[in-house]
Amino acid sequence: MKVVFLGTNGWYSSETGHTTCILLDTTESYVILDAGSGIYKITEHIRDNKPIFLFLSHFHFDHICGLHILNKFNFDKGLVICCYKGGRDILNTVVRQPYTLPFERLSYRVMINELDEGYHNSFPFKVECRKLVHATDCLGYRFEFGTKVITFCTDTGYCNSILKLSKNADLLMAECALASGQKSVVWPHLNPEEAAEIAKRSNVKRLALVHFDAVIYNTMDKRRLAEKRAKEIFESVVIANDGMVLEI
Ligand SMILES: [Zn+2]
Ligand SMILES: [Zn+2]
Repeated sequence: MKVVFLGTNGWYSSETGHTTCILLDTTESYVILDAGSGIYKITEHIRDNKPIFLFLSHFHFDHICGLHILNKFNFDKGLVICCYKGGRDILNTVVRQPYTLPFERLSYRVMINELDEGYHNSFPFKVECRKLVHATDCLGYRFEFGTKVITFCTDTGYCNSILKLSKNADLLMAECALASGQKSVVWPHLNPEEAAEIAKRSNVKRLALVHFDAVIYNTMDKRRLAEKRAKEIFESVVIANDGMVLEI
């Protein structure tokens, strides 16, 4: 399966990239992780007639601002948007006039699926979701596609949920909004050392750092420095950038 990074910034788009959006191209389906501004590139990558799922971590704008271009797409098989309990009302508040076209006016059907914490078997793959630690509710996801385990945890501080979700994963995509050594209690995020520590403790095969704060990581050199710091703790780390594709 392929992991396509379409947006790797946190907070806002800048020269370093668009805000968070990642496509998992699996045998059975397409899974989009968050709807940041990078989502506009998705048409280049969605070529087969497979079902499409969009899993939202939370509703901070850098993760949903791409929803206003859903009318650019023509998803023949429809779109299933998954989010935490209560997310339907939030989505229906934002995705409507006068902000943008409501879901009902799109050329394809959109279904909203609110997920409880825990395990879900109603998809063509297995999903586990857990609440992370952030300034608002935020879900982390663990997917099992056959034998491959992919974990996506953005916008979180160090917590047990991310450790649980990433245990023995083939790939952990963890956020790296903060700079080396930096901490934030009021608005929890991870720094490179913490992400690497989690990868090590969870025994993951590979760690991809993503969601780099647009101000803190205003150059790609700063991302490379984060990679260096993380590598001192966990060897198998890669820094994501827009356009990067990983084969898992
Ligand atoms: Zn964010
Ligand atoms: Zn956030």
